[in-house]
Amino acid sequence: MVESLVMPGRLFTLLSSLSLLLCVATCALWVRSYWLVDRIDFDRVGRSFEIRTHDHTLFAQWTSRPYRPAGWETTKPTYSTPFSESIRPQHLVYPPASGIPDAYQWLGFFLEPTYHQTPGDPQYDCWFTDVGIPYYFLFVLTALPPCVWAKRRYQNRRRKGLNLCRSCGYDLRATPGRCPECGTVPVLVAGG
Ligand SMILES: [Zn+2]
Repeated sequence: MVESLVMPGRLFTLLSSLSLLLCVATCALWVRSYWLVDRIDFDRVGRSFEIRTHDHTLFAQWTSRPYRPAGWETTKPTYSTPFSESIRPQHLVYPPASGIPDAYQWLGFFLEPTYHQTPGDPQYDCWFTDVGIPYYFLFVLTALPPCVWAKRRYQNRRRKGLNLCRSCGYDLRATPGRCPECGTVPVLVAGG
């Protein structure tokens, strides 16, 4: 075993830093989503793609025809779903006249998968998919790599300080040249 395998490598450090930045952004958007609705619409040759943040959830929506003009828009929410409500398993059925397809919600995840056809409104007569990912999930996802990085760094420092093998934690005071347990050769630091 090579010692660098258990140390936070450069790539892992870089990815953890990026993840930490995303984590901070996630927290900011999470808080903001309680007060404001942000939506960014993209034009995709005959299609529409939208990222929307609202109600402690990050939504992505795509349609089979242009749905909204491209651009960024911030508005006050017209409705809000309490967090406790969004984590219950739910099959949301809208009035048939609205043309809005059934939606599913569970643990804050949201899915509106099917055809959207509002009678008399050709704009909504299209394939329409809306997916929502809760911010708490994104928070855990982005917080995990920096936490693992910090834990490894702490463990390495501690093991180095106590003269323990950095791979397996074996006491190296009697055999400083090579770990008799796992075979790891400690990297000698100049002056250390
Ligand atoms: Zn070892």
